[in-house]
Amino acid sequence: MLYVSTRGGGEPRHFSDILLEGLAPDGGLFLPQRYPRADLPGWRAAWRDGGYPELAAAVLSEFIDDIPADDLTRLCHDTYTEQTYRDPRIAPLNPLGEQMYLLGLSNGPTLAFKDMAMQLLGALFEYELGRRNSHLNILGATSGDTGSAAEYAMRGRTGVQVFMLSPHGRMSAFQQAQMFSLDDPNIHNIAIRGVFDDCQDLVKGISADLRFKRAHHIGTVNSINWARVVAQVVYYVAGWVQATETDDQQVTFAVPTGNFGNILAGHIAKQMGLPVKRLILATNENNVLDEFFRTGTYRPRPAKETHATSSPSMDISRASNFERFVADLLGRDADALRKLFDEVRTHGSFAVDADQLARCREEFGFVSGSSTHADRLATIKRIDAEHGRVIDPHTADAVHVADQHAGDEPVIVLETALPVKFAETIREAIGRDPEMPEDYRGLEDLPRHVDVLDNDLEALRDYITSRV
Ligand SMILES: *Cc1c(COP(=O)(O)O)cnc(C)c1O
Repeated sequence: MLYVSTRGGGEPRHFSDILLEGLAPDGGLFLPQRYPRADLPGWRAAWRDGGYPELAAAVLSEFIDDIPADDLTRLCHDTYTEQTYRDPRIAPLNPLGEQMYLLGLSNGPTLAFKDMAMQLLGALFEYELGRRNSHLNILGATSGDTGSAAEYAMRGRTGVQVFMLSPHGRMSAFQQAQMFSLDDPNIHNIAIRGVFDDCQDLVKGISADLRFKRAHHIGTVNSINWARVVAQVVYYVAGWVQATETDDQQVTFAVPTGNFGNILAGHIAKQMGLPVKRLILATNENNVLDEFFRTGTYRPRPAKETHATSSPSMDISRASNFERFVADLLGRDADALRKLFDEVRTHGSFAVDADQLARCREEFGFVSGSSTHADRLATIKRIDAEHGRVIDPHTADAVHVADQHAGDEPVIVLETALPVKFAETIREAIGRDPEMPEDYRGLEDLPRHVDVLDNDLEALRDYITSRV
């Protein structure tokens, strides 16, 4: 199994060689040369005999041929434990009415689906850095979910330090408590006097300084990391296994989408041969991807046009993983792909032709829709009233859009966060507070570990240099 860049440059590489990388050297994204074939009976047996960790090892071994099978199995068992995920099934499927299910992906330490992949990434990083006798300093910017998922995945791990920038005073009280209560010596919370974009610019500033980057082993864990994508394929299989009894039964997935990371894994599962009828893509008011699947035009918006919504983890106007899907749509024609993304750079958008748009629907199974704040409130309220279950605003996005695309087959909605992370919106929807998990009570009273820095590249450089 070898990996190549969507833009066609460079030599094919093995999994472990791209594990610690972000973009490919030619600016593209890594993809396997070919998707492996689904092993439906084998996967069903793995789930039956060993639950989520066995299934993860079975699926991942199709993509990873340079980590010994025993080691990979051990890493999966160490990662997907009942202690870490608060549920023995890890990703439990629960009915939500007749033909709809919720796949619970938010039972991990930060109560959002990013844990599902990030926890495995932590284990893989520690393993690979150990094999190479090397170390890595992860630098990132966060407005909430990604940063906390990265910190909880990397805390206490050998060979890894995390430097996470966040806008000073702008995260929710819960998000701040979650990150700043960590006192592991390898985790550094840095609150920047500025907004999220300032944090991102600082990360870009450091990344552009190749000499500094190399000298201090700086890396990232953003959503284009291939290992994160492939770890997410596992829960699509887990959802299908739990919803079906025979290998020819099809399901549809409804997925709340920002960076096209989560739903990309569903696309890959379908390409492998998992019986997925449709992929329902749901956005909020930031509807760049919905627009593409309705009209064939991809027009990312500048950061200043991004709406701040009540499903904030999807407030993204440039879907960083979308290029991987476009590569498949174009039959891996790297020249054609480069042309399209050059058009985005020069003209702000590209359009695919009517045939290609039809293939998005027919061959790849995509349908899409978006929701407004009012839609999410109404959906949260209805699901609570009808099913006695409180869902978070991102999951509500997906339920809302799934309702509009109901078919004959079961629809599995991916639950991407627990409602407690977005208490204000929940109160607005149902007039009461969401439930706080037992082990999070008192979190906001713990001592805080955070350093406040000015929005100044030199100051950040000094901060990092004195700690690596
Ligand atoms: C990150 C996130 C999403 C969107 O996932 P993408 O991979 O960016 O498409 C949806 N819901 C929640 C709660 C998230 O944290």
